[in-house]
Amino acid sequence: MTVLHGSCLCGGVTFEVSEAPETLRYCHCESCKKLSGGTGTLNGRVRSTSIRIIDGEDMLGTFEPSGGSAKTFCKKCGSNLFGGGWPDSETASVRASALDDEFAARPSAHLYVRSVAVWETLPDDSLERFETTSG
Ligand SMILES: [Zn+2]
Ligand SMILES: [Zn+2]
Repeated sequence: MTVLHGSCLCGGVTFEVSEAPETLRYCHCESCKKLSGGTGTLNGRVRSTSIRIIDGEDMLGTFEPSGGSAKTFCKKCGSNLFGGGWPDSETASVRASALDDEFAARPSAHLYVRSVAVWETLPDDSLERFETTSG
């Protein structure tokens, strides 16, 4: 069984994911810009039940923007860890930045390109692009 390890910046939160993400997609939406401090997030899609918190469960904070899904972060260092409604949703997004182990999936698409900022340039990488989600 594949187990990927992940952590936040301060190291207080550690977790493991029991399945490797099959898809890896960039999200350029306004929420992801705010929470990432940059152009957005890169997300692996996994089943919510495959994520297990090892340390620091009490350090997890959740924010659910109106009209958006719950996002989970470390309350001490602010690292963004999960999105897509974890842990209550069927599937969740794991931020690629939170994973410490290597995995095979490579980015396949850019989501929410309608929200690309004026200071942001999409790379000429021939990946699929979607105005919002991939549906
Ligand atoms: Zn932390
Ligand atoms: Zn987003």
